[in-house]
Amino acid sequence: MIRIFSLRRDGNVRLTTNFNLNEFRSRCGADEVRVDMNAVEMLQKIRTQIGKPVIITSAFRTATHNRNIGGASNSLHLEGRAFDIRTNNPNDLVVLARLSETAEFNGIYISVHQGYVHMDTRSTKWFARKNPDGTYTNVSTFGGNVDRFNLTRLLRLLSPLQRGNDVTQLQRELNRHGIRDRNGRVLIEDSIFGPLTDSAVRNFQRVKGLVVDGIVGPNTSRALNWLWNGR
Ligand SMILES: [Zn+2]
Repeated sequence: MIRIFSLRRDGNVRLTTNFNLNEFRSRCGADEVRVDMNAVEMLQKIRTQIGKPVIITSAFRTATHNRNIGGASNSLHLEGRAFDIRTNNPNDLVVLARLSETAEFNGIYISVHQGYVHMDTRSTKWFARKNPDGTYTNVSTFGGNVDRFNLTRLLRLLSPLQRGNDVTQLQRELNRHGIRDRNGRVLIEDSIFGPLTDSAVRNFQRVKGLVVDGIVGPNTSRALNWLWNGR
């Protein structure tokens, strides 16, 4: 949920254990500050895990400020859904990227030459390194999410419908991969393996070049970066 604050009124408001509202201000000094409250909670997880001060170099940007500093016109900084961070140690950038991945930011890139990690809550996963010439080199993982999900049964469309945490995990992962159901919609993470989840699994299998059978077993688990421990 994106909240709109006033820097003058709310500047000292503590949003999480370690972050105040003023740290998210647009660096042009505008009074309006937009913050994605869910993203701030994710940022706090990174802060808690690294256990030292995290410096936010850019968070919310007004359209004018974003244009002035050459930001992308569709930048998620405009919505308060993107953060650029660093610590006082340049060697921490890789750790920050890994913790960002673990915190489940979908968009992450490291800019070593500029000395920060960018993260945002886009809907489809995109990890990269920013090169000095402004281009990006894609990265499949920064080594986060080391506690991989362990699937212990086949997931598929059955009667009665399968229900459970593993189905919720599946729906979540499909959404994180940017996969849509047969109506082109984001899956509702309702823990029930119904026809829409089946259609999204098939779309995922198609995208990954797997056998399109709607069954989440060893191969589809691997493509999801899950551990398979079922039969
Ligand atoms: Zn950024």
